[in-house]
Amino acid sequence: EELQGDVSRENVPRQVPGYHYSPVQPTPVQAPRLLAWSEELAVFLGVARPPEQGPAVELLAGNRVAATMQPYAARYGGHQFGNWAGQLGDGRAISLGELQAVDGSRWELQLKGAGPTPYSRRADGRAVLRSSIREFLCSEAMYHLGVPTTRALSLVSTGDEVVRDMFYNGNARPEAGAIVCRVAPSFVRFGNFQILLAHQELDNLRQLADYVIRHHFPELGEPSEEVYKQWFTEICRRTAVMIAHWMTVGFVHGVMNTDNMSILGLTIDYGPYGWLEPYEPGWTPNTTDFSTYRYAFGQQPRVALWNLMQLGQALSPLVTAPNEALRPGLDTYAATFNHTRQALMLGKLGLTAQPDAAPDLALAEALDTALEASEADMTLFFRRLSHLVPELLAAPEGNVSTHRAFIEEVSYNPQGAPHTLLLEWLQRYTERLRLETATPEDIRKGMLAVNPKYVLRNYLAQLAIEAAEAGDLTDLERLYHVLKSPFEEHPAYEDLAAKRPEWARTKPGSATLSCSS
Ligand code: AMP
Ligand code: MG
Ligand code: MG
Repeated sequence: EELQGDVSRENVPRQVPGYHYSPVQPTPVQAPRLLAWSEELAVFLGVARPPEQGPAVELLAGNRVAATMQPYAARYGGHQFGNWAGQLGDGRAISLGELQAVDGSRWELQLKGAGPTPYSRRADGRAVLRSSIREFLCSEAMYHLGVPTTRALSLVSTGDEVVRDMFYNGNARPEAGAIVCRVAPSFVRFGNFQILLAHQELDNLRQLADYVIRHHFPELGEPSEEVYKQWFTEICRRTAVMIAHWMTVGFVHGVMNTDNMSILGLTIDYGPYGWLEPYEPGWTPNTTDFSTYRYAFGQQPRVALWNLMQLGQALSPLVTAPNEALRPGLDTYAATFNHTRQALMLGKLGLTAQPDAAPDLALAEALDTALEASEADMTLFFRRLSHLVPELLAAPEGNVSTHRAFIEEVSYNPQGAPHTLLLEWLQRYTERLRLETATPEDIRKGMLAVNPKYVLRNYLAQLAIEAAEAGDLTDLERLYHVLKSPFEEHPAYEDLAAKRPEWARTKPGSATLSCSS
């Protein structure tokens, strides 16, 4: 209520100048049914798991709105693929309100796919089961990997069919609809500020900045010019930490438009994302990006910086001399990204920082090149490397046949490439390992605690989706089970940690996704 909301309550697509959000009611669905539930998040939020059907599920599907809720859709704009796109807004996401968690913190609940809003433009405001499963599983997987992210509380099927104006598996066809209830301290994006600058709504701009600072960055104190600068620096810092995590787990967001960048530095908007299997910086799963590869894995650090520059531009009316005022933020981004990525990488390699960081930086860089040359599976590489450490240390002169066997296990081209770079790298790494004072077993344990065995492999998500579309939730539940403790061993789930099979290499849905994913 501190922010100005649109007075009209109509859900008709339109421009909404002058307002931060529009009050909207979710549109009811036929027959909501609970398909997945995040028990761990629910306990934190103090809510009980509902039965498969009933009043609570009606609420999670938008069929019921509690008396205390004032649902709304936010107004924002953004740069899509580098071009200013004007007003976008929550076209299919409707916030219900906030819940107070057991620790007193406040969390916003947002239904994705709950029907049209003023921001729906030409689309229907709905989400299909396939994309809802992808958002539910991936946001929870990221959380359990320690990556800053929005969360998902529930996945509900709607009983309605949704027709996408796109081709999926070669045919435009009706698909099952679904709704994810996603959860975050706030869903404010860079684009919420950008739209205000674009319309020269400078009072609104200050109002939103002050609101976000007071509610989400209270440690900075009462808003002032100095506080705006520190706030921008903090956004840059958090964004850098998030991107460093993406780069060390092999996550490709796929559509890093500025409307998909959280002001809290959380991974947000799980659409055509993917996970690296062969380590390939040029890879993206997003078919919409196949002409420019703007959002490919290796581009992400640069794109995040570009997006922060757009945010800085949007915030510039809040400070005098914006160029000097915002520069420290952008510098902080670069420094934080480099240092966080390197710290995470040292952890993955079981190494402790040395007084002279240069040789370890070079070692990490050489690994980048070697992994790509060997088409190594990123997740398998680090997990198997962890187990290999005691052996490497026991044979300090290097055992080429052990090294070769290891590479063959993790490479997608085991016989084809000479693997010279990775063989050399293993030699170098073994020498470096000898500087460590911890026991080989302790190094191994430390590495296993940070190198996941389970990530949401693209083809596994797709298999779970296809089974769920046919009414079988077993695969979805199995996947969700391991993704909740990705660093643990799950002996009955070895199939979910395996190298991607050859058939999955080019299959749509497994390897390629479109923006409406
Ligand atoms: P995204 O590419 O997911 O960031 O979406 C870009 C814009 O399109 C946002 O304003 C979304 O709310 C809107 N949008 C995406 N899908 C739909 C849909 N099915 N119905 C209405 N709006 C949508
Ligand atoms: Mg979006
Ligand atoms: Mg989206």
